Formats: sequence, structure tokens, C-alpha cells
Amino acid sequence: MSLVQVEKVSKKYGDDYALNQLSLSLESKDQYAILGASGSGKSTLLYLLGGLEKADSGNVIVDGLNLSKMSDEKLATYRNELVGFIFQFHFLLPSMNCEKNILLPAEIGAKKIGPVRKKCYELAEYLGVTHCLKKFPYQLSGGEQQRVNIVRALSLKPRLLLCDEPTGNLDSENSAKVTGLLKSLAREFGSTLAVVTHDPGVAEKFEKRFVLKDGMLSQEGFFHPTNEPPPAP
Ligand code: ADP
Ligand code: MG
Repeated sequence: MSLVQVEKVSKKYGDDYALNQLSLSLESKDQYAILGASGSGKSTLLYLLGGLEKADSGNVIVDGLNLSKMSDEKLATYRNELVGFIFQFHFLLPSMNCEKNILLPAEIGAKKIGPVRKKCYELAEYLGVTHCLKKFPYQLSGGEQQRVNIVRALSLKPRLLLCDEPTGNLDSENSAKVTGLLKSLAREFGSTLAVVTHDPGVAEKFEKRFVLKDGMLSQEGFFHPTNEPPPAP
């Protein structure tokens, strides 16, 4: 069963299409890589899936909800209840310590904090960032911030986990570790996972891959490592 259906979606910035009549679907609980060079529309696609931006035309349907037609208020609830987002650039709030950052979505959603805090500490332990939880984001290295972001995105067990270049500033060893971890946590939580990346090494860790080029999918969506040259980073 598909969780996500993107139907002929276009999004323009000025005269240029960031996404051009793009259609794809993501099956519930499956894991996808979306590979594309810089500027190909990856972040725009994730922002539309996460209800952070609206399409100019076409439909984005997630779990039966047509995001293109929802009010800003309903979209905020959608983001809070269904989506975990790991951004390309860290989005921890500088004025709060990491634990407060992680618990904020649960507080906004008026969830019981106890179980979320327990999950937060379990995940932090697993990712080796327990020592970071009482610190402020500026006191952490880039890699630690990214791992705290992962804890935050997962602490509410999202149906849809969206990751924008989650390994962008990690070396290849940590990149493989984080990719493996996202995949195993998504499986454990039953989340549908979509990772966008410019790195073919990350994409090849996924059986299901799309290639984005100039806001469109190439090769009817699927990427075959043997006959598709990797995009320029
Ligand atoms: P990617 O994440 O693959 O690098 P993006 O989705 O960020 O690509 O961008 C796709 C295209 O849309 C690029 O040409 C980019 O310059 C343009 N774009 C993205 N966001 C904006 C914006 N807020 N204002 C103007 N142009 C934008
Ligand atoms: Mg991007």
C-alpha cells in the first residue's frame, strides 16, 4: 500500500522549475534514496512531502491527506504527528539545550512526555550522544548535532521519515554508520524512509532509488547503477 503519492507536482521559483510535473509514490514502510546533483530539486521535494512548502500545481497525498489542499493549521498538525525531518543544515534551536530541542515536538503536540523522554535517552545512548543532551547545540560538533537531530526526528516514531543529505558533513565511515542506523531505526519503527542525497555511495545502500534531474525523475524513476552515470556532486 502506498503511503505517499506525488501527482504531477510542479514548483517554480521565479521563472525556473524546481520541480516539473513530478510523479512518484512511496510504499508504506519501504525505504528510498532519491539521488540528484545539487540544484536538481531534492530539498524542494522533501519540503513538499513534509508540508513545509506547497506545490504550485499537482497533488501531494500522504496517508490519504491531500497536503496541497490543507490549511496551514492542519499542515502543522500533519508535520507534528506524521513526519520526522532531518534537515540538511541543522535545525536545533540555539536557545535550548538538546534535550529540550528533542522534546519540543512532543510538547507542541501535547503528548505525554515521559515515554518520549525514555525513547530519547535510548536513542541518544544508541547514537553515542547521551553526553550531549544537557548541552546547547553550539557546544556540539557538527556530527554530534546531526546525531541529536536524528534522535529528535525519531523520538515520536514518525510514519514518514524525511532526510535531507543526512550524511552531508560526515566522513565516509560515519556516513555509512548513519545511513545504516536510519534504515534500521525506520524498520524498527515502521516508518517509511526517504533519504535525498547527491552521494551515489549513500544511494546504493537502498534497493529502491529514484534519480532527480532538473526537477524531473530520470529513467522512469528507477536508477540502475550499471547504466546510469553518477551525477556530479
Ligand atoms: P537540491 O536540494 O537538489 O540542491 P533544491 O530543491 O534546493 O535542490 O533547489 C532546486 C532549484 O530551485 C535550484 O535551482 C534552486 O536554486 C531553486 N530554489 C530552491 N529554493 C529556492 C528559493 N527559496 N528561492 C529561489 N530559488 C530556490
Ligand atoms: Mg538540497
